[in-house]
Amino acid sequence: MGFYHSTRSASPTFTSKEAIRRGIAPDGGLFVSDDLGGTTIDISTLANKDYPTLAREVMGALLPDYSADEIAACVDEAYTGTFASSEVTPLVPLSQAPNADGTPTYVMELFGGPTSAFKDVALQMLPRLMARTAGAEGERIMIVTATSGDTGKAALAGFADAPGCGITVFYPEGKVSHVQNLQMSTQEGANVAVCAVRGNFDDAQTAVKQIFANKELGERLAAGGTILSSANSINVGRLVPQVVYYFAAYAQLLRAGAIQTGDAVEFCVPTGNFGDILAGYYAKRMGLPVAKLLVASDKNNVLADFLATGTYDRERPFYTTTSPSMDILVSSNLERMLYYLADGDCELVADLMSKLTDEGNYQIPAELLERIRTVFDGGWADEDQVAAAIRRCWDENSYVIDPHTACGYHVMEQTAAVEGTACRVLLSTASPYKFPKAVAESLGLFCPPDDFACMEVLAKHTGTTAPAQLAGLKTKPVRFEDVVDVADMGSYVEQAASRIAKEA
Ligand SMILES: *Cc1c(COP(=O)(O)O)cnc(C)c1O
Repeated sequence: MGFYHSTRSASPTFTSKEAIRRGIAPDGGLFVSDDLGGTTIDISTLANKDYPTLAREVMGALLPDYSADEIAACVDEAYTGTFASSEVTPLVPLSQAPNADGTPTYVMELFGGPTSAFKDVALQMLPRLMARTAGAEGERIMIVTATSGDTGKAALAGFADAPGCGITVFYPEGKVSHVQNLQMSTQEGANVAVCAVRGNFDDAQTAVKQIFANKELGERLAAGGTILSSANSINVGRLVPQVVYYFAAYAQLLRAGAIQTGDAVEFCVPTGNFGDILAGYYAKRMGLPVAKLLVASDKNNVLADFLATGTYDRERPFYTTTSPSMDILVSSNLERMLYYLADGDCELVADLMSKLTDEGNYQIPAELLERIRTVFDGGWADEDQVAAAIRRCWDENSYVIDPHTACGYHVMEQTAAVEGTACRVLLSTASPYKFPKAVAESLGLFCPPDDFACMEVLAKHTGTTAPAQLAGLKTKPVRFEDVVDVADMGSYVEQAASRIAKEA
């Protein structure tokens, strides 16, 4: 019997390899496992374990049909020489706690990978996991992904020239930063396609879900030897690698003497699609002492409202902000959280999700909201608050954060830690150099119109250095300038699939 099934029905079941290869369950739900927490990680031995060791242990528990050798090979390929720090996700202490309660606070830097965003941690791994799933002879996988800015580049970097794979990335035209745009449009590799969409991220994400659900399109592609899969954070292969760094944070805190074994730690997570913070919940279920998970949103505060009222309402204005990767109104992975906190009630989840599609909102039962609030708390920051948080974090700690991380910093300032919390950890999801203009302006610096000149201003003022892969974009040739309407995304995928099949 398979380990995974849909959030919307308990059968059929799928192995973890099948779940990763398919991306999304056949009924449109997300893959979940009822064995989550069945295998726990021994906290008392964490201090002695380095990142690869933890990755093998945590991923092995969640992907049981991969052999230990397969997992070990994936971990080696994904994390050897690809991240700036040997810790992969290093912790940095802040000299001043963001809240008057004074709980010691650390920043976990998740952005040391090849594209300078936290998504590299998972997207360096996903292609390796996918390569070890078995398809029919000669079958190619076409990854189709909608991005609000960072997923696209991290997925391109992971899948470029990956054997047996192609990748098509859609991003909302004019709604990603200049640096993010260049990162994608200059991507090298024979098997990649990048295209702007006239619409916002939710339009693009909804259209991608429709492409997956389009049977005729699927049959035409299959006739040409291609199946579709997803690199979005709904894929189990994205979620599982993210669970690892919550344990790695705890291990580092133990080594630093900041906590004792068993002490409770709070994590604050800049949130969009709810993937990163959901991984924190998985870690809690697997035995990590998590005091609270703080959901930090930007001005698109649908999750903060949901946690306050129990009503999820996507019918609201969409704001384009300085934190584009969090400009999201439909947080897909929330569906998994609802599944687990409703004790696996597939019928309830299916009902809520169809209400969201048909009516644009849903309301959860009061008892369920109470349970969710025992684990999650949340808040949000508007753009002025984001700018002020970047400034205060610099003034108080001489530490530069990007606008996404700043949403979390603001929420931590606003929220006292739960009684008995030994440490707080803010997950830093992007390098400030991905958003040089917003960051330099927040610090009150004069900003030249050109992003690369802005990077230099930022470097000079803060004594930090722009990651080489970002500074180097200035001179890289642009390869992709396509723009399509939402309605034409399906045919764009078909064209890309046939072009890539010819070049393979
Ligand atoms: C994707 C992203 C987020 C949001 O993460 P989710 O897993 O979608 O909640 C936050 N910050 C940055 C920089 C990101 O790229």
